Amino acid sequence: MRHKLTISIIGLLFGTALFAQQNLQKPKLVVGIVVDQMRWDYLYRFQDRYGNDGFVRLLNDGFSNENTYTNYIPTYTAIGHSTIYTGSVPAIHGITGNDFIIQATGQEMYCTQDDAVNGVGTTSKAGKMSPKNLLTSTVTDQLKLATNFRSKVYGVSLKDRGGILPAGHFANAAFWFDGESGNWISSTFYMNELPKWLVTFNQAKLTEKYLNKWETLYPVNTYVQSEPNTGDYKVNYKGLKTSTFPYNLKKIAKDNGLGVIRSTPFGNTLTKDLAIALIENEDLGNNPTKATDFLAVSFSSTDYIGHQFGTNSIEIEDTYLRLDKDIAELLAYLDAKVGKNEYLVFLTADHGGAHNPKYFQDKKGNAGYFQTNEIKNQLNTILNEKFGSKNIVRSLANYQVHLNYQEIENLELDTEDIEKLIKTFLLKQDGIAFVASMHDMDDAVIPAAIKERMVNGYNHKRSGVITYILEPQWYGGKPNGRNHTRNLGPV
Ligand SMILES: [Zn+2]
Repeated sequence: MRHKLTISIIGLLFGTALFAQQNLQKPKLVVGIVVDQMRWDYLYRFQDRYGNDGFVRLLNDGFSNENTYTNYIPTYTAIGHSTIYTGSVPAIHGITGNDFIIQATGQEMYCTQDDAVNGVGTTSKAGKMSPKNLLTSTVTDQLKLATNFRSKVYGVSLKDRGGILPAGHFANAAFWFDGESGNWISSTFYMNELPKWLVTFNQAKLTEKYLNKWETLYPVNTYVQSEPNTGDYKVNYKGLKTSTFPYNLKKIAKDNGLGVIRSTPFGNTLTKDLAIALIENEDLGNNPTKATDFLAVSFSSTDYIGHQFGTNSIEIEDTYLRLDKDIAELLAYLDAKVGKNEYLVFLTADHGGAHNPKYFQDKKGNAGYFQTNEIKNQLNTILNEKFGSKNIVRSLANYQVHLNYQEIENLELDTEDIEKLIKTFLLKQDGIAFVASMHDMDDAVIPAAIKERMVNGYNHKRSGVITYILEPQWYGGKPNGRNHTRNLGPV
């Protein structure tokens, strides 16, 4: 399906002075905003009810990069954030999924996993994170280098990967959310204890306060851009039998824990509150050495809500109307704190969101579900018949076939034969559009635009050697909620 990932707005600022050769005016602060799973069309789909000071202000006062496409597959959060901030692709920056497999050992690796560090503000595993797996430098790293480390750089997101990867290797800190405690945390990669202002911020227990009630901003029957207020195509919060407004979040938090704030629009509001508290307390945009500071913010609730309720839900529409207000508040704060025309904001998405395939089918469109696990088992069965092992395919993660090279070496098998058999089998399956081994990309009969994305997304140490592409509107998963779009690019 056509997949426009990026919204990419927006430099406010400076007009022609920005490009003048002399007296180059630098922003005092750069604020990078990533909206997790924001489809490009949300900018316009919900615009009638956006205010003038959020998304619309960015469109009016800045510029919008239309027709911007992701140049790699697959599209996942960690890859999107890494690509935005490095200007590179998974083949080079090494973040090939939210989780990936170290091909040499078969070890599973989470994108920001770092067993050598500990949490700060938590003793849980949620704190053992750093940008160590990101191989290239980020724009935030380069800013540090360019200013001899005088710039202050921070990253903030509910998701560890949404804060850590954009902030880069030289950041002063990244902060992310711990669902167990409802607090913001960090790791010893950055510091040994949380700054005092953050301890105070956590003590205010905003998570509990926000988990009260979710009603629509406007009468529910006025949400004409969304499916009716029914439970179709949705995944219920634990403890609920259906998904309809209004939601009693106090009760839902009891059954789901404080981490459920992620799956409400108030997770974004909490992120906005933290961003403002950070700018205020770390005095960003007022660097005593006049160096430019940088804050990378990622709003993640849009993604959790998209997964749970689907692209066409009132929940999503209401979430964007509320995020518009949060962004307006952040911009108004920046005007007052840093000064109008003194800061630069860009806004983009890390990936898009596909329609729920079941919804598509119900409307008589073509769509389907690719039963990934079943296909993996079938593959190992036929490989066993030919090569005498049931463990040749390790996983079908990230729409790639990961081979078990230890097993292949032990049995002294030929990988070429194995790859050939896998490709032949996969091509026959419903929902498969293209299959290619990275070893024979030159001969693969695949549109050039897709081929390029396959190669860009392939890192030989961390990706499966065979990539498969599903047909439009197909995805690997179950018929409820939805998943990230399969990006077939502009074809
Ligand atoms: Zn994402």
